[in-house]
Amino acid sequence: MSGAAIRFDGQISVYDLRRDDSPCYHCLFPEGEDVEEVRCAVMGVFAPLTGIIGTMQAAEALKLAAGIGEALTGRLLLLDALTMEWRTVRFKKDDDCAVCGPKGNVRSGEYLRQAGADRESSSAACRLA
Ligand SMILES: [Zn+2]
Repeated sequence: MSGAAIRFDGQISVYDLRRDDSPCYHCLFPEGEDVEEVRCAVMGVFAPLTGIIGTMQAAEALKLAAGIGEALTGRLLLLDALTMEWRTVRFKKDDDCAVCGPKGNVRSGEYLRQAGADRESSSAACRLA
């Protein structure tokens, strides 16, 4: 599950790797892509937006834990807090994904070890959960 907020823009998605057809975070945001890095400390964030996105993450987590409803797997929700309009972007598993594809290493746990993760917790583990 991932959620993000910067300035007036928020986003949320779910990556359920228990499902064979589920894309992972890396399928959506491959490393090496030319993405402008923005930081909350520099760009600021509209404070209520973090609550909106965080509460939605909690709702998705509870749905997954209870096995109810339809998770946001394969859908990225984007919120423009200035207009309070949501957009949905659908995406699929990348068959050549370096993380969850046939040559990937997420299932063996190697990705998490490479990311410096441990069994206790890590942001990488959260992104992949
Ligand atoms: Zn992937």
